[in-house]
Amino acid sequence: MTGNLRVGGVALATLMALMALSVALAAAFQHATSVADDLARREERVHVARFLQRAMETGAQSQRGLIGWDETFEHAVLKVDPVWTDREFGKFVGNTQGIATILLVAPDGTLLRGWRDGRRANDLPYAHLRWQIEGLIAKALNGAHTLDQRADTMKLAGGRSWPTNAAGMPNALWESGIASVANRPSIITVASIVPDRRPLLLQEVPNFLVTIQPLNEHVLARMSEDLALPVVGFADNASTLGSRNALPLFAVDGSPLGVLHWEPREPGPTIYRRTTPLLIVWIMFFIGVVVGGATIFGRTRRAAHELAASEAQAQHNALHDSMSGLPNRTHFMQRLRSELTACIEGRQPGDVFVAYLDIDSFKVVNDTLGHHVGDELVRQVAHRLRRKLPAGDFISRFGGDEFVLLRHGEGGKAAADALGEEVLALMREPFLISGTKLDISCSCGISWGPEHSEDPGELLRRADIALYRAKQRGRARYRRFTRDMDASLKLRREMELELRRAIAHNELTVAYQPIVGIASGEVKGFEALLRWNHPERGAIRPDLFVPIAEQGGLMVSLGTWMLRSVFTETRHWPESDISVNLSPLQIMAGDFLQTMERLIDETGIDPERVILEITEGVMLDRSEHVVVVLRGLARLGFRIALDDFGIGYSSLSYLRSFQFNRIKIDRSFVSNIEADLDAHAILCAIVALGNTLRMKVVAEGVETETQRRLVQAAGCELVQGFLFWPALSGAEARDLLLPSANRLRRVG
Ligand code: C2E
Ligand code: CA
Ligand code: CA
Repeated sequence: MTGNLRVGGVALATLMALMALSVALAAAFQHATSVADDLARREERVHVARFLQRAMETGAQSQRGLIGWDETFEHAVLKVDPVWTDREFGKFVGNTQGIATILLVAPDGTLLRGWRDGRRANDLPYAHLRWQIEGLIAKALNGAHTLDQRADTMKLAGGRSWPTNAAGMPNALWESGIASVANRPSIITVASIVPDRRPLLLQEVPNFLVTIQPLNEHVLARMSEDLALPVVGFADNASTLGSRNALPLFAVDGSPLGVLHWEPREPGPTIYRRTTPLLIVWIMFFIGVVVGGATIFGRTRRAAHELAASEAQAQHNALHDSMSGLPNRTHFMQRLRSELTACIEGRQPGDVFVAYLDIDSFKVVNDTLGHHVGDELVRQVAHRLRRKLPAGDFISRFGGDEFVLLRHGEGGKAAADALGEEVLALMREPFLISGTKLDISCSCGISWGPEHSEDPGELLRRADIALYRAKQRGRARYRRFTRDMDASLKLRREMELELRRAIAHNELTVAYQPIVGIASGEVKGFEALLRWNHPERGAIRPDLFVPIAEQGGLMVSLGTWMLRSVFTETRHWPESDISVNLSPLQIMAGDFLQTMERLIDETGIDPERVILEITEGVMLDRSEHVVVVLRGLARLGFRIALDDFGIGYSSLSYLRSFQFNRIKIDRSFVSNIEADLDAHAILCAIVALGNTLRMKVVAEGVETETQRRLVQAAGCELVQGFLFWPALSGAEARDLLLPSANRLRRVG
């Protein structure tokens, strides 16, 4: 979060800096353009002033031929020759561009003669010009300007000195200024007439030739052209000119004459124009930076958020199981540790109960109905546990079908029993998965600390041992941990390794338990049962190792071994049925029918003598596959018996999906039959059902005479149980079938 703020701060600072820079740049730019405009205006005014100055100078220079000439001196100074002056000065006016008026003036300002537009003019408004011309003559006589380079001076008659040029000739003196003539500013140039050959002709101050050059359109146009200034004009004052540039004009005496004005060549707009693309680029850049910055900032923030979220997610994932959403083993262990510590340190009174539970026959559900059903079942179990158990219970999933529950409470054994009952009760209601009702049960092992252990790992292990024991006792049970259980779990792990070794070392054998006719007691057939004779542990019950073989992936090959052994051993026995148990995993294996065909070929067994016992678990999957396999088996000649009938699943519906030859009533019904009236009623119903569906009914686990009677009374024809025979070796079993044998012998 602080990183987030820092990123934000940096982004904001960058943005502010950029904005400040932009504003400063804009201001500097504005300032620069206005300074440039000012400079340009000032420069233009200098140019215009220079132009005027030049115009005045050239005005004088252009008179050089006329004013520095002996002949002019003779005709216009020594005397005023009207004919000569009219001709020459008139011609001069005509030849000299722009000059409208020319005057011949005495040094004291007296007008001697005047011409306008090439002709003699008598009506010139000289009165108001005179004082200005006098002023100019006075300035000229002060020697401000000479036509040629000033080299020396000569003395006039009155003692006045007069400048001479390099040739020793008197220099023409001239002066120029602006005056208003007929309301129009004009350049007035006065130039003294001097001799050019005979210097001595100049004895006193000579007459002056005065030219008046109005600043008319012609001149202004030339000015505009020469100075490249658009449209030069003249106005009385500057106040009406707006943005136009202007040069004020002053008369010789300094009085204002109006202003020359023109459209300034402002570089500012040009600079603007030229720099606008750059400006646009800059603005785009700026916008880009702002937008990019904002985007990056946004992205960074989002990334930071996402990171935080994914961290939280990762944290959640690390502590939760993805399928059920329940806390996982890590989370559970953390919680267990802290609860246990609180109890041990006396911060929390009472016990910490750990209930380890798993779904009975989950593997069967998974293998027969498919993993999606298994997964959905796990989700539903998780949901139900969370919904139905008290809010204070901490429910976690360890994977597969294993759930572990943590409860804090008081009461030791009694509380453990209550917890166990609660959990089992929760599972009694069937689950509905994709339209199929699933009756499942679970087994549960319970331990509690600190009594059973102060170590969370050990406490959990002990709950697991109790669970194992609950499973050993049969499904749908809970067990409290007791000290004597401790060895069992280790046993289970070792068993799988040993089973693999046992298969390799032929430690497995087959026992045969006779199935007899209830009325006569005559041996009708046998059930083949797997036996494991462990060199150290002795006989190990199949109830214990068959699930281990199933879980360890050994069951299919073990089943095939079993079938081959049974077929080989019994193929030559006198007439009798041989029942063999099949694991659901065998049926689900893709090549089971081929395996059976091969075994028939290999062993020469007559399939008609063989009854294959399958449990209801396999029928959970009413998919075509199981039915196809069962029909295939029937086609090969085998008969099929439904084993352990009546427990677990909604048995009756399966009877419709396939024509079974037999059903075997589960031992639990028989063992309860004396005490439980319901069990008896159910037994009767099952037998009746079997008769109706043309199935033989076998009662398993008949141990007492009473049971036998009741089973017989129910209508059952075939029985199997210790009241008649235990499981026998192959040789013993075959001997029973010999004509000499007493087939009615019972277990003693
Ligand atoms: P099951 O198929 O229900 O087999 C009958 C079991 O009941 C046998 O136990 C048998 O010894 C026992 N039994 C028979 N009469 C009595 C009686 O009067 N009282 C009592 N208490 N028990 C009786 P076993 O041999 O321990 O087999 C246990 C289970 O192991 C079998 O139950 C069967 O599910 C499984 N099993 C045994 N052999 C095989 C096999 O080759 N393949 C497969 N997949 N499972 C097998
Ligand atoms: Ca059986
Ligand atoms: Ca059975």
